Amino acid sequence: MQPWDEIGDRIFRRRYPELDQNIGAIVTDDGLVVIDSRSHPHHARILRGDLTRLSPLPVRWLINTHEHWDHTFGNQLFPEAVIVGHTNCRRGLLSAGPELVAELKQADWFPAEERHHFDEVEIVPPTLVFDGETRLWAGGREFRLSYHGRGHTDGDIVIFIDDVMFAGDLVEEGGPPNFGDSYPREWVDTLRVMADLVTGPVVPGHGDVVDRAHVVWQAYDIGAAIAGEPSSITGPHLDTLRSRL
Ligand SMILES: [Zn+2]
Repeated sequence: MQPWDEIGDRIFRRRYPELDQNIGAIVTDDGLVVIDSRSHPHHARILRGDLTRLSPLPVRWLINTHEHWDHTFGNQLFPEAVIVGHTNCRRGLLSAGPELVAELKQADWFPAEERHHFDEVEIVPPTLVFDGETRLWAGGREFRLSYHGRGHTDGDIVIFIDDVMFAGDLVEEGGPPNFGDSYPREWVDTLRVMADLVTGPVVPGHGDVVDRAHVVWQAYDIGAAIAGEPSSITGPHLDTLRSRL
């Protein structure tokens, strides 16, 4: 198991082997701010245990980068926190969440021994939502949350603390981006806007921490796939991208 990795002043990410996923945790004088809640209550319980190694203080805020189940289906394990996300993250979770839980309970692509964990899932959406940008202050630290257009979904936000960007699944490392709910052309534009904002490390939703060059490359790579030019996106991923054009 990887330990917490400190990528800025009391700014941590933990890379979980399941889905090679990154969870963010920022320590403030007033408590923790956590970014994404993992795939189901069992995983969220493990996350809660891991958070106690960072601080004995409570989780004050939980930020959802977007609506996808692997980032939000652990939300119910954080009843003491205010959950923040984009308006469309809340909307998407409420409209598609219950059906998705039912689907995941039967999903043959998901490890059979883990499927029962979805029996426990309650859909808990963000209660503090925004459309463009907002800032929150916690324990004397400033968190800048912003939306730069549709991309991986219609409600992906990025979070800055100091010079560290948490990019959710708008940025992927170690695997192809997920196009299932995406808007590929707009995703390219969104990544270009984001790249201009990057001044430090970028934490993707999955995979290794990257930098501005990776964000620029990903915009180029998706653009190339759309144009039918050589790109890293091939096979079923390319088919899904095309189905979303
Ligand atoms: Zn996602």
